[in-house]
Amino acid sequence: MRVGVLAIQGAFIEHERAFERAGHIVSEIRQSKDLEASLDMLVFPGGESTVQRKLLHDLHMTEPIWQRIDAGIGVYATCAGLILLANEVDGKPNELGRLSVLVQRNAYGRQLGSFQIHGSILGHQDIVMTFIRAPRILSAGQNVEILSTFDGYPTAVHQGNITAFAYHPELNGEIYL
Ligand code: GLN
Repeated sequence: MRVGVLAIQGAFIEHERAFERAGHIVSEIRQSKDLEASLDMLVFPGGESTVQRKLLHDLHMTEPIWQRIDAGIGVYATCAGLILLANEVDGKPNELGRLSVLVQRNAYGRQLGSFQIHGSILGHQDIVMTFIRAPRILSAGQNVEILSTFDGYPTAVHQGNITAFAYHPELNGEIYL
């Protein structure tokens, strides 16, 4: 696939490497004209969702990106990326939401409280899942497929053209689509 990784803030390098290792052709999305490339998938890396939201706005990238999402491009979102796409964040509606999930930011602890678990997803067993100031998916709509769970909460979800993770698959070299 031709994969465009949003490269304005956060863990974009790790995502670029992980998708390259998986055999995909990767380009960086740093300004709206980068979205004119022929792409199969957009990647929203982890980082700081408030900063990412502001930068996307300031760089006039929000509208073209969301247009491509609505036109059906594949979306792979990690952590802060999940937050950008969630319908509700910390009890407030998110007008950019495209995923029927309610999330609570930083619910799995602070940076120093980062942790790993072993879980299963899409038939892959014993996968390392790294949580870094991760959002908790408090609830998901009926149209959302839950791909993995931890402690009774969804940790990866799929809806339409979007797959999103509370944890960081890219850190362990795992890209499961
Ligand atoms: N806590 C961050 C946020 O709220 C997300 C953390 C991450 O992407 N690793 O945006």
